[in-house]
Amino acid sequence: MRNDPERSRALAEHALELLAQQPDADLEADAHLLLCDYNAERDRSAAQQHLELARGLLPRTTRPALAAQVAGCEGDLSELAGDNAHALSLYERSVSLAEAAHTDDVLANALYQRGYLRGLRGELANGLADLRRANDIYERLHLPEEALNTLMAVATLYDRMGDHAQARRYFADALQAQRSAGLVREQAVTQHNLGRALERLGDWPGARDAFEAAFRLSQQIAYPRGEAYGLRGLASVSNAEGDGISALLLLDHAAALLRKAPDERLRAQIALQRGVALRLVHRLGESVASLADALTVFQAADSQVEAASTLNELAASHAALGDYKAAYERASQFAALSDRLLKRQIEERYASLKVEFDTAVTDRENQLLKREKIATDRALAQEQRASGLRAVALALAAVLVALLAMLVRRHYRTSQRMRGLAMTDELTQLANRRHVLSTLQAIVAAGKPCSLLIADLDLFKPINDEHGHLVGDAILRAVAAALRGAVPTHAQLGRLGGEEFIVLLPGSTHDEALAIAERARAVVESIDARQWLPNRGVTISIGLTVCKPQDDLAEALRRADEALYEAKRNGRNCVRSAPSTARAVPEGAEGKAAERVAAVADGPVPRLSDALP
Ligand code: GH3
Ligand code: MG
Ligand code: MG
Repeated sequence: MRNDPERSRALAEHALELLAQQPDADLEADAHLLLCDYNAERDRSAAQQHLELARGLLPRTTRPALAAQVAGCEGDLSELAGDNAHALSLYERSVSLAEAAHTDDVLANALYQRGYLRGLRGELANGLADLRRANDIYERLHLPEEALNTLMAVATLYDRMGDHAQARRYFADALQAQRSAGLVREQAVTQHNLGRALERLGDWPGARDAFEAAFRLSQQIAYPRGEAYGLRGLASVSNAEGDGISALLLLDHAAALLRKAPDERLRAQIALQRGVALRLVHRLGESVASLADALTVFQAADSQVEAASTLNELAASHAALGDYKAAYERASQFAALSDRLLKRQIEERYASLKVEFDTAVTDRENQLLKREKIATDRALAQEQRASGLRAVALALAAVLVALLAMLVRRHYRTSQRMRGLAMTDELTQLANRRHVLSTLQAIVAAGKPCSLLIADLDLFKPINDEHGHLVGDAILRAVAAALRGAVPTHAQLGRLGGEEFIVLLPGSTHDEALAIAERARAVVESIDARQWLPNRGVTISIGLTVCKPQDDLAEALRRADEALYEAKRNGRNCVRSAPSTARAVPEGAEGKAAERVAAVADGPVPRLSDALP
């Protein structure tokens, strides 16, 4: 609708044709509203017709914002018909309906309409507030053309309020946007508006540049009204510089252009500048006539700012003519009107300052909230990341602990096994020599009571020789098992090496030890070895000693060894005690043993104590 209104109208009409076959209340209302907008400036009754059709569809529509749009278009028609009070109430309605519907683009349009009309009616501060809100929404919705329009309306209100510097800033911003969008006509209008603001600020070189640009751009697109506006501005600059002749030339040119495109207000503005120029060239009667002509038009149009400056110029021209009475009258009228304008401007400036302040405070609060939200979000994200990492770390730690526990267990088992291996005799699974002797060493060193037996297989070599080592090994295992069953549980049984075994009997007295030794001897003697040895049995000889407090390991072993030697000499298969602790060995037992080995010849008895660790 903004860029190609004819195409917009054609599409809307086509849409209505299609919708006649397939009704859709929302879309039909949309199309009628477009046509209301299109016809508002072209065919008032057609616009009114489309408005009524859209309004009639409202009960069947689903989009609540449509009601706001209907009120907006109705307000537009009222404004064009000159009923600004009614138009304003319709715009108010449009704003509140759009707010309730939470439809931002419709709200921005309604705010734009209400704001501009408020400004035109002199409620500059309120108008400005509406336009700013509209502009913010358009920018947020990325509607640059709408935002720009709003900006221009804001600048116009600033200019009306006498804040030309602020207006200049807005016009300059708008120009930049229009330049990059390639909107030539809009640039021409803005350059003119900028020239007016600079003119009011007394920035003549700046004003000249702006008016020249407005003129040039208008020429470029064959826009005579724009050219005339530019020329009027340039004439105003010439007048300000005291060059009435140049001003008159420019104004003649402008008036000629205006004949093709009549514009009563512009004609009055040209008459005003002509009056000033004529005074400068001392054509005072013509000056007063031209100014009076301008004043009539401005007063009819309620254009008070321009009326005031015309009164001022009239006073000067009357004075130059020497008509001091008329000059005084005009000067008094000028003063009164200026006072009124100034008072109103000041009031509006205060109100606008308050709006600016409120807006700034709201913006600041919004920014703080936004920043706070960003900070909270960031903290939350960090917290989440941290707890994620914590979970990973915990899982890793758990895995590590499990791994460590496994390793410790394995290590413990391995070391237990190694320890076992290091302390066990492989063949018989009894404690080995190192193990059993270190235990004995500890007992002896502590001076604890302990008896000690050394048992040696009788005539074992011939078994090996006759039946082989495997048989010898089997017999060693059988003897070990028999001994294990014969000694009490608190005893420590070990293999000293070869066919020799040792039994530690902690806390046992000589007699207790002797009884145990005898039992061991008898148990071995009772081994059924017929599977290996068809012609003989297995017997052991045992040497016994009781450890003494002053003993060392070697000494204790030497005594047990001696007792064993004694047993061998006494015919084997018997128990003998070491001489110092010797007590009567039961005669019967010894006699029996001697009897059993009588047939076996004496052999050399190896000395254990020679082979101590
Ligand atoms: P005595 O009654 O005087 O002790 O006679 P003996 O034959 O038992 O004594 P000797 O010291 O002459 O023989 C011990 C034999 O034990 C020599 C060796 O072959 C045998 N022997 C030592 N260790 C082992 C072993 O681990 N396995 C087997 N099969 N024989 C072993
Ligand atoms: Mg031996
Ligand atoms: Mg032997």
